[in-house]
Amino acid sequence: MRDEETCLEEPREREDPSAREFGSRVELALSATNHLFNARNSPRYVAQVLQGVSAVATKLDRTTRPFTGVGPAELKARVGAIDLDQPLPDTASALEELESVYLRDAVYFHDTKYAAHLNCPVVIPALVGESILSALNSSMDTWDQSAGATMIERRLIDWAADRLELGGAADGVFTSGGSQSNLQALLVARNHAVAGLRQQPSNAGLRLPALLEKLRIFTSADSHFSIQKSASILGMGFDAVISVPCTGDHRMNPAVLAQAMAEARGAGLLPMAVVATAGTTDFGAVDPLTELAALARAYGAWFHIDAAYGGGLMVSGRYRHLLDGTALADSVTVDFHKTFFQPVSSSALLVRDRSMLRHVTYYADYLNPESAALAEIPNQVDKSIQTTRRFDALKLWLTLRIMGADAIGALLDEAIDLAARVGSLVGADDDFELAAEPQLSTLVFRYRPRTDGGGRLSEDAADALNPAIRAAVFASGEAVVAGTTVAGRHYLKFTLLNAEATLEDIGAILGLLRRTGADLLQDGLLQSDVAA
Ligand SMILES: *Cc1c(COP(=O)(O)O)cnc(C)c1O
Repeated sequence: MRDEETCLEEPREREDPSAREFGSRVELALSATNHLFNARNSPRYVAQVLQGVSAVATKLDRTTRPFTGVGPAELKARVGAIDLDQPLPDTASALEELESVYLRDAVYFHDTKYAAHLNCPVVIPALVGESILSALNSSMDTWDQSAGATMIERRLIDWAADRLELGGAADGVFTSGGSQSNLQALLVARNHAVAGLRQQPSNAGLRLPALLEKLRIFTSADSHFSIQKSASILGMGFDAVISVPCTGDHRMNPAVLAQAMAEARGAGLLPMAVVATAGTTDFGAVDPLTELAALARAYGAWFHIDAAYGGGLMVSGRYRHLLDGTALADSVTVDFHKTFFQPVSSSALLVRDRSMLRHVTYYADYLNPESAALAEIPNQVDKSIQTTRRFDALKLWLTLRIMGADAIGALLDEAIDLAARVGSLVGADDDFELAAEPQLSTLVFRYRPRTDGGGRLSEDAADALNPAIRAAVFASGEAVVAGTTVAGRHYLKFTLLNAEATLEDIGAILGLLRRTGADLLQDGLLQSDVAA
């Protein structure tokens, strides 16, 4: 290196402009190599990453609320003002700049007054994993880019499949998230159903679109929208998804499912899949898995369980029983980046019968030729809809090795217990109305105080008021809560995942919601709607 640097001094000294340009290009390339992750630069690697880590640690010390309330226009202007063609002199300056465009106004999920979505506070062992996996940059598509990483991912898949009681032939793959896991599950289910249809002589010669027309997916009205999106991506259209109403507890109604499947069959359609949810996004409801599995089986339909949220129950000390019935699934989605407290992204799709993953296999000569599969070279791309893929499994691996599964389960159990206690608090409070008793770690409720006449604020006024409360609280940065609708009416939602949040913390958020609601009413902003 050094020698090259010296010889290249020469052209620079001559007054030939093209040589000068050549010289400065070479100089740039040489200094650029100082940024490469390698043995020569290892002290720089440690120093710069530590700078980044300490910037975040300083943030933790100084952050006293989950958000600053900054609006998109202001951040757009600040980010837009930066000249991306003029790099800063060093990491410290870039981190200082990052403070103003990101760190200062980020949404902080570790804060106990963050109670909105399923994005979670993360555990430190997973952050150790995150820094290792991105430095080594293993890619999970092929053995020759991953080696031990493939074995670690496979071991974790087996571990999770075992916890879910999927049996000895189970397999699976890590994915980018629950939406992708659900998409892959439905892709496999679709291709499995199509393979069946192709065996019928009456379908001979029909192309895929003609076969897809016959397929229907059954899922509850409360299931995740990624089911509809998957159907669309899979060429079946949103309307291939039949939405099955829930019972009062927000779980899919098996009697209605039975009827809907019978009707579909009567109309010459093929029930392709039943998608159950273990932990719905709003109510945390777990569908009656055993009953739904039996119905799916009776119709030869694929039985998928979307446990993106409820998957963490597999390590729970107190609530494991809520997942009973996963043993009957053909496939299960689990989001480790929700109830396993892993940083985004970390999810898996698990299948009971490993041979089903052949439905996503494509042999590319340059990457994973069939000869490699025959030689039993473990190329994970054979099972995945991604090619280049992060070694996200390492985060879970280090979490299990450093904390242990029971400790993760204990964090989730705390959140579930907290939701139950907050549920009692809200249920007993005259200013609030619960939409349903909590089932996992969410709580859906609304501010709807008593009026002077003794009745409650009208439904319409509550509909106008609750989204306004949520927006005002978000803009204050003091707390972050979510919103949703139930039967067309607007509600607020807590998603509790922080084992360090106390009843007092959440009580303080309720106080804030109450004050904000009362102020909005007082200001008369909503007077016209208030008439009960
Ligand atoms: C969050 C969630 C998803 C989507 O998962 P992503 O990781 O956000 O893609 C799917 N289903 C349920 C029930 C969820 O809660």
